[in-house]
Amino acid sequence: MLNIVLFGPPGAGKGTQSEKLIAKYNLVHLSTGDIFRANIKGETELGKLAKTYMDGGNLVPDEVTINMLAAELDKAPNAKGFIFDGFPRTQAQAAALDSLLASKNTAITSMLALEVEEEELKKRLLIRGKDSGRADDQNPEIIQNRINEYNNKTMPVKDFYAAQNKYKGINGIGEIEGIFALLCNEIEQAI
Ligand code: AMP
Repeated sequence: MLNIVLFGPPGAGKGTQSEKLIAKYNLVHLSTGDIFRANIKGETELGKLAKTYMDGGNLVPDEVTINMLAAELDKAPNAKGFIFDGFPRTQAQAAALDSLLASKNTAITSMLALEVEEEELKKRLLIRGKDSGRADDQNPEIIQNRINEYNNKTMPVKDFYAAQNKYKGINGIGEIEGIFALLCNEIEQAI
């Protein structure tokens, strides 16, 4: 199986690049942010709980997120592989993901990290907020809190994969196609 963690701060381009990667490599896209938003739209209990964290730009608690991800993995028993987009966002989530995949006799192939500096991220998120209507992309204070959550809790996930020699940094600034080519190049080397 080909299992990729597509990593990077909010606004780095993970969603855009995931769409292209799943089409090229025939993978299942697991975006925890998208799954939470679908639950909010469907007014499920999970959605109501997640919304209380997401509205402020805070991470949803690990236990809730990991249980949800485990259920999503079980829904795709015949997948050729997965793109994990926006997950794991803490070291506890990364360790849980390793265990879940090990129980299915597979593992993460690579963590590809899109690197974009903070000022560019803020600009991109405000533009996306206008187009997508996502509330958490429209308020500069919430955007700052999401970036702070990333710096404090999510950045250490890099070390987790670096320790397994699976971390690859990719310049996330430039044309979408050029960045996609860089990602594909890393994947070709990993498989
Ligand atoms: P995203 O669409 O990836 O930017 O995620 C939007 C929001 O969903 C985040 O700001 C968090 O509140 C929540 N979220 C998404 N993925 C996770 C995760 N792996 N762990 C905790 N919270 C998450």
